[in-house]
Amino acid sequence: NQGPVITIDGPSGAGKGTVSQLIAEKLGWHMLDSGALYRLLALAVSHHGMSADDVDTLKVLAEHLDIQFEQSDEGKVEIILEGEKVTQAIRTEEVGNNASKLAAIPEVREGLLLRQRAFSQQPGLVADGRDMGTVVFPSAQIKVFLTASAEERAQRRFQQLQQKGETVNLEELITTIKERDERDANRSIAPLVPAAGALVIDSTDLTIEQVVERVFAETVKAG
Ligand code: C5P
Repeated sequence: NQGPVITIDGPSGAGKGTVSQLIAEKLGWHMLDSGALYRLLALAVSHHGMSADDVDTLKVLAEHLDIQFEQSDEGKVEIILEGEKVTQAIRTEEVGNNASKLAAIPEVREGLLLRQRAFSQQPGLVADGRDMGTVVFPSAQIKVFLTASAEERAQRRFQQLQQKGETVNLEELITTIKERDERDANRSIAPLVPAAGALVIDSTDLTIEQVVERVFAETVKAG
């Protein structure tokens, strides 16, 4: 018995990461940031100078990619790829866009599937991504689809990047976010759609705390 699973899917910038982390902490459960796996693969592909056309090699790389999640002394999770700390490096717009392109390749998704399922362990798992409820954990007890308007998501991303001292253009950000939404929603494999029976939450006018409360109420309801 691998324990219960809560899936939190939705487009980038909807607040999935923060919400998933808070819920996992509150319940004392494990957490899977599946987007990080796609980002790690994208980084490895560029480090190795690999071509995205060689799908069989991509699949093998996805299956065997050397990844470690290490708890740092301050309680932060550090992500190690092939021995190198890449916690910050995977969060750039460039890596995100490359990840989104790789994510449209069926062999890549197949290669990452079992690795994602392995995160499901006692006492429970909060899984954050695009297809957690539809493909990776279809029998999850609680499924959430968290969304927000593209403008709001761009605005949040804009603030995050500004805090990191990166100069970005808000209009450009809105355009890239819409492009990525398009690609994620319309790809033939595992498109970004709410799972059947998912609780859909639009976070455009909600605070993180309000979203967490709603998901938590659902968890209590499900027992
Ligand atoms: O969530 P994050 O922005 O880190 O994900 C990066 C990209 O990985 C997304 O744009 C999406 O294309 C892809 N992805 C996916 N399925 C997931 C998680 C992420 O296709 N479960």
